[in-house]
Amino acid sequence: MGFQTEMVVMSIKEIGHSDENALLELLLTYKALGDEDALGNCSTSGCAPFRVKHGDDIDFESSDGDDDAGDTQPNYGDYGDENFIRNMSEKDKKINSLVDMGFPENEANMAITRCGVDVDLSVLVDSISASLAAGDFDLSHQVMNRRSDSFGGTKKIRLMEDRKKKRKRYGGTAHGNQIFLDGSHYEHMPPPNPMVGFSLPNCSQLPVDRKIPKKAIGRPFFYYENVAQAPTGVWATISRCLYGIEPEYLDSKHLCAAARKRGYIHNLPIENRAPLLPLPPKTILEAFPRYKKWWPSWDTRTQFNCLRTSMACQQLTGSIGALARTGNPPPRNIQKDMIKQCKEYNLVWIGKNKVAALEPEEIEYLLGFPKDHTRGLTSTNRYKSLGNSFQVDTVAYHLSVLRGMFPNGVTVLSLFTGIGGGEVALHRLGIHMKTVVSVEIDKASKRIFRHWWDQTQTGTLIEFDDVKSLTDATVASLVTRFGGFDLVIGGSPCNNLAGCNRYSRDGLEGKEYVLFYQYPRILEAVKEAMARM
Ligand code: SAH
Repeated sequence: MGFQTEMVVMSIKEIGHSDENALLELLLTYKALGDEDALGNCSTSGCAPFRVKHGDDIDFESSDGDDDAGDTQPNYGDYGDENFIRNMSEKDKKINSLVDMGFPENEANMAITRCGVDVDLSVLVDSISASLAAGDFDLSHQVMNRRSDSFGGTKKIRLMEDRKKKRKRYGGTAHGNQIFLDGSHYEHMPPPNPMVGFSLPNCSQLPVDRKIPKKAIGRPFFYYENVAQAPTGVWATISRCLYGIEPEYLDSKHLCAAARKRGYIHNLPIENRAPLLPLPPKTILEAFPRYKKWWPSWDTRTQFNCLRTSMACQQLTGSIGALARTGNPPPRNIQKDMIKQCKEYNLVWIGKNKVAALEPEEIEYLLGFPKDHTRGLTSTNRYKSLGNSFQVDTVAYHLSVLRGMFPNGVTVLSLFTGIGGGEVALHRLGIHMKTVVSVEIDKASKRIFRHWWDQTQTGTLIEFDDVKSLTDATVASLVTRFGGFDLVIGGSPCNNLAGCNRYSRDGLEGKEYVLFYQYPRILEAVKEAMARM
């Protein structure tokens, strides 16, 4: 990051090296007292990502620690410092290797304390394993291990290679030089495969004892959703802004017939969850049996891809129909091409050699909304708002724990309400909404939500347009007026981190995505106002 070695050594000696943020704060303080020019723009306040301008040759994304302080020739102050630096560097390398293998950082740290920094890596592995066998391994770490295990070996090597390639591609650009505080830690925690969350309906649950910091426990409960596959560092920042809670990654394909890979950061209990009944169909043909008649045996899809905001055009469906007529069955290579397009655009066989995009009401059904929920909007707007919405069964499964906690109903602050996926989930769970304060800027989505509310709810609906206009003072007055909020729920303000767009690497600094920061700001304002109550 461009700090002088002596300054780093001095800072580590002063406060240790286990609290990365504190160390950085101290370094920045020293830096501020000394020359200011060496640093580019930076911000350590709140949860804004910290940026440092680098030379292009610095391997800022490296997570394996191979090219850090150990390879440089620092200007040591004295021989003691030299040893100190060598040990620190050795320790960091070993910790990184152990984290790469899937061990939690603090376990790696403790093993080095137990065995010393000079022992072989295998000795450290044995030591952590023995600790695990002895049962003094924190359960929450098992979750991490589960993740890392499922992401082992060749996949990891491939990912590291991909990263190196990407680094080359983006090296030297402004975004390429972005560093997120503690991001490297999370780089080792990509969404697990399979993406099954902390539990699934009707499946025996693996023990998950996740850590929620004291200040995030209990009311107001909060629930924030974002696409699972976000650029490096995004989840680290989201998590850091939301009390360091680790995301629950869940692909909705485990609950319904369409994929939707999302991460959810929440402080809800995870015991005694219950799914919405009836359970939704899990395959395409269970959901739409009428397509069975025309479905060719060589189209082996059983589930839909993620339902997105745009649909296939007529030219595409027409050309697929033409390809289907090239033989019965068509040649293998043509089949492959067709399946690829069908997958990408979620096409269905509606007649002999005839494919079509899903209708908006079919998407409503797959996402768990009532029939005609978005009717009245243009088809483009229906696809758009549905493509951005929650999968209701998935969210309801997580929110189901509120039913027992709030038998008289809930007071909800709903940020980025959209067409009301969260509220539909609560309603379908039979949870009464006493009051919903809804913040949504899009007029069409607002109209849909308001119509649904008027038809189904008896509680109070208060609406705000722009999330930025909801000041902390307004939040405080809402808290006073409604006796606080039971649930603060919100989803990603735009999905430009999904699909190909994510390679733009705008991350949370992207034009719309920067709105994410409004969620933790408002949540904090709610918590502060509730604490004063
Ligand atoms: N979870 C919602 C959809 C979230 S999509 C659902 O289930 O439907 C994100 C929403 O944020 C979109 O509806 C978008 O219109 C809204 N949005 C974007 N910018 C906003 C802003 N500045 N203030 C409030 N809402 C905004």
